[in-house]
Amino acid sequence: MTSRPVRLLIVGPQGSGKGTQGVRIAETLGIPVISTGDVFRANVAEGTDLGLQVKSIIDAGQLVPDELTSAVVRDRLSQPDAQGGFLLDGYPRNLPQVMHLDEFLEGRDEALDAVVVLAVPREESIARLAKRAHEQGRADDTDEVIAARLSIYETETAPILGVYGTRGIVDEVDGVGTLDEITARIIAALEARGLARPAAA
Ligand code: ADP
Repeated sequence: MTSRPVRLLIVGPQGSGKGTQGVRIAETLGIPVISTGDVFRANVAEGTDLGLQVKSIIDAGQLVPDELTSAVVRDRLSQPDAQGGFLLDGYPRNLPQVMHLDEFLEGRDEALDAVVVLAVPREESIARLAKRAHEQGRADDTDEVIAARLSIYETETAPILGVYGTRGIVDEVDGVGTLDEITARIIAALEARGLARPAAA
């Protein structure tokens, strides 16, 4: 277990495996994963007001409005289990959301400790998404919507790494390999920052 709260963000293009790795890392560190995509999908599945508001946006691969998304995340981060650290997956994904998160965390005298970027070549992520579309049938995994999501990643999400980069908290990790290899690379990067204990712990 870690001795102090660890606050992480995992970033990567669609199909990079960030969801899977996020869960593994969070389990290792004993912190909750906060995935905006999962929160939105659960609301759509349950037919909540939020779900009704976001369904068509998600199905089109567009971004849910920043104010709405940030309000959802603030709510989630205010729950007791997130006081001991957290791993954000899929938020922030543009510069306005970075500002919203900064403001919220600063108000609590907190900050992100590390931003893990999973680097995966475009062809590889497209191949993985095609496979997932086949296996899971996610409504937003059609060719056209995948292209829209990847393009938003490149134009809106990639630039947030510049901001976090100037803070010296970005760790880029090679996202090609077996699941275990990639998890080990991420843990090693976090260990180097003193955010995770060596494997035996
Ligand atoms: P992916 O990263 O593969 O697009 P996610 O599960 O992270 O999948 O997100 C699915 C969808 O949920 C996005 O395409 C978008 O419509 C919505 N979404 C998730 N996170 C955000 C966010 N931070 N801001 C706006 N919309 C979001």
